[in-house]
Amino acid sequence: MSVIYNRVALIGLGLIASSMAHAMREGGLVGEIVGFAKSAGTRATALEIGFVDRVTETAAQAVEGADLVVLAVPVGAMEAIAREIGPHLAEGATVTDVGSVKQSVIAAVGPHLPDSVHFIPGHPLAGTEHSGPRSGFAALFRNRWWLLTPPEGADPAAVARLADLCRAMGANVDMMDAAHHDLVLAVVSHTPHLIAYTMVGVADDLGRVSNSEVIKYSASGFRDFTRIAASDPTMWRDVFLTNKEATLEILGRFTEELFALQRAIRLGDGAHLHEYFTRTRAICRGIIEAGQDTAAPDFGRSQPGAPAKTG
Ligand code: NAP
Repeated sequence: MSVIYNRVALIGLGLIASSMAHAMREGGLVGEIVGFAKSAGTRATALEIGFVDRVTETAAQAVEGADLVVLAVPVGAMEAIAREIGPHLAEGATVTDVGSVKQSVIAAVGPHLPDSVHFIPGHPLAGTEHSGPRSGFAALFRNRWWLLTPPEGADPAAVARLADLCRAMGANVDMMDAAHHDLVLAVVSHTPHLIAYTMVGVADDLGRVSNSEVIKYSASGFRDFTRIAASDPTMWRDVFLTNKEATLEILGRFTEELFALQRAIRLGDGAHLHEYFTRTRAICRGIIEAGQDTAAPDFGRSQPGAPAKTG
């Protein structure tokens, strides 16, 4: 594989950025990788692991001379970073982000970037419940979707180049409108996480999470909730603060369905429950067939690199 970008600046050195660095290194896709993260500890860890060639003291220094800049910080931190790096970006550079929400990132970042750079927002639908520089691995994006939401009028060559990089890291690339992205993600990722957090909260309210019985029997369903509810609180706080409208829309629909099921249980309406579960099982089987999960009893979670959660 030939080099796609000569110098990449990674702003944020956590799960997504470190996975990108490992994948880019493995494929020989980029020349130099320069990194910046908020804390000196994370920067030192990134250097020690060796997934960056060098780190800088500021985000502005990191982007100097880079032809690709990746914003891989929590969504709520993107605006301040964009403001800082704006004046230091190289002419013709591409700036992308990996944020889980697109409209608010575009609104926060866009105004701070000069016209001489290409801003192509993105979102890899891949992740785990782990975070930080030690959590990344090269296979994270393999066979996962990477959604790009280029604004109208974006330079097709710059978009194609970024899409090439995503594909070379193993991802499948789709283009999407930012508003549509936020609604789709509210359904497939954001609302499920909120429900998972709630379910764990409910169990805790009952004083049973630490009870060994809950842990012992968690494979019966609770485990799947606890897995995603173990995700990073900062990242998820920012997701809900910034994808407010779409999440509230989907939550409203969810609540209506939940009430309908609650009513069916109260009335002993087995036909309703059976029809509902039959329909939803078919949807789940479709997901497995589409290769976005696996039919393995543990959903393949014991295998490294196997089904990822999305943010
Ligand atoms: P992470 O592992 O928690 O890493 C976040 C990184 O951002 C850390 O290196 C952190 O540095 C740095 N950071 C935070 N605030 C900063 C600031 N103000 N200035 C500079 N660096 C800052 O997070 P992640 O999972 O990689 O997520 C990064 C982005 O990817 C988020 O926008 C998230 O929405 C998106 N995303 C996540 C997933 C997922 O499942 N995790 C999936 C797809 C997309 P320190 O360590 O020094 O604090």
